[in-house]
Amino acid sequence: MKRIDCAHCGESVVASSRNPKQEYCGKPACQRARKTKWESQKIKTDPDYRANRRDSQKTWAEENPDYQKQYKKTPRQVERNRILQKVRYQRQKKKKACLDEGGLSKNVAKMDALKFNKTGISGTFWLVPSVAKMDALMVQITDIKETMRPGVEGFL
Ligand SMILES: [Zn+2]
Repeated sequence: MKRIDCAHCGESVVASSRNPKQEYCGKPACQRARKTKWESQKIKTDPDYRANRRDSQKTWAEENPDYQKQYKKTPRQVERNRILQKVRYQRQKKKKACLDEGGLSKNVAKMDALKFNKTGISGTFWLVPSVAKMDALMVQITDIKETMRPGVEGFL
């Protein structure tokens, strides 16, 4: 029996005899990754597929006009927007003051101020790229010093 290493999770699985080109295992996350890769390839190479997809999305958006409005009201998006607005405001202020700290001001991890704790910087953050077109990313940062304490999982 032929085995393959899944291109997504890396796990070694028995390959299907019916699909000699198999690269992914059957786990849902890996199948999703396979489909996403296929689709992004298809969009790049097939103009008909690209046009068809654009039309479908447009039709769907027209049939669901409230979707964006509702999505923007979800707690995660409200928080994201609040943080991004703060960053926009700070950037504006900085521009006005003609302050440029060079490399230091770039790629600042914008902290959710309320989750800051006195023992470290662990918490949930919005990572806001200095490139406006890139989307902000919610990240979880754990201070290694905190995990070094006895009684904490992962203590060495
Ligand atoms: Zn897999």
